Amino acid sequence: THLTAALVGRPNVGKSTLFNRLAAAVRGRQTDSRSTPPLTFVRSVVHPLPGVTRDSRHAAAAISDLLLTVVDTPGLEDAVHNASDQSHRPSLVEDEPASLVNAVAHCSDLAYRRVYASMRDATIRAVAHANLVLFIVDASTPLTALDHAHAKWLRSCLTPKKSLILVANKCDVAQSEHRAIDAYALGFGDPVLISAEQGLGFADLYERIRVLP
Ligand code: GDP
Ligand code: MG
Repeated sequence: THLTAALVGRPNVGKSTLFNRLAAAVRGRQTDSRSTPPLTFVRSVVHPLPGVTRDSRHAAAAISDLLLTVVDTPGLEDAVHNASDQSHRPSLVEDEPASLVNAVAHCSDLAYRRVYASMRDATIRAVAHANLVLFIVDASTPLTALDHAHAKWLRSCLTPKKSLILVANKCDVAQSEHRAIDAYALGFGDPVLISAEQGLGFADLYERIRVLP
């Protein structure tokens, strides 16, 4: 059966960066995130502000000789929590007047809640259709309540036909190895340590996918 992997995790862990790298690999391109993609390339927006990916994106992808479909998801957020906690809300980006980030920064609380509800739905749908979940955490910072919330929800989604691999991203930064080991506490076994940005750890990820039932 064809492998469809949903990339799931809280905002800012590097899902879109991983998506872009895996999708670029199938095209045999050098996967430098700064290189200009061809026009046909459906690129996910990588942004330092959380919550920039608002819907799911699919792409054909490759890890070495393993061909799969990857699905970038916006993650699962508690709309009510985020509407009241304005610290999650992106602030204005001066040099991107027409950007999606600014649209979200400007909108009403109600519209903001709707955005989060649709992000949630898109993530739920992506996981429902996938036969593999790559649950991404950020090894450059400690685990958050939102990581644990994702873990709890994902545990309820798993079936004999839906596997999950825990992925600790940003393992290029200092102290990341300790934090990656902490991710064991999420209850999905040992994480695969990667750097989506630097292209590290993909051989390990390949091995973990290859031995799946
Ligand atoms: P998403 O919200 O989960 O889709 O995260 P993004 O892919 O948009 O990345 C969020 C931020 O983390 C961006 O500033 C990325 O450049 C950065 N980032 C992503 N992957 C890595 C990584 O492997 N190492 C480091 N140091 N930063 C990363
Ligand atoms: Mg994203």
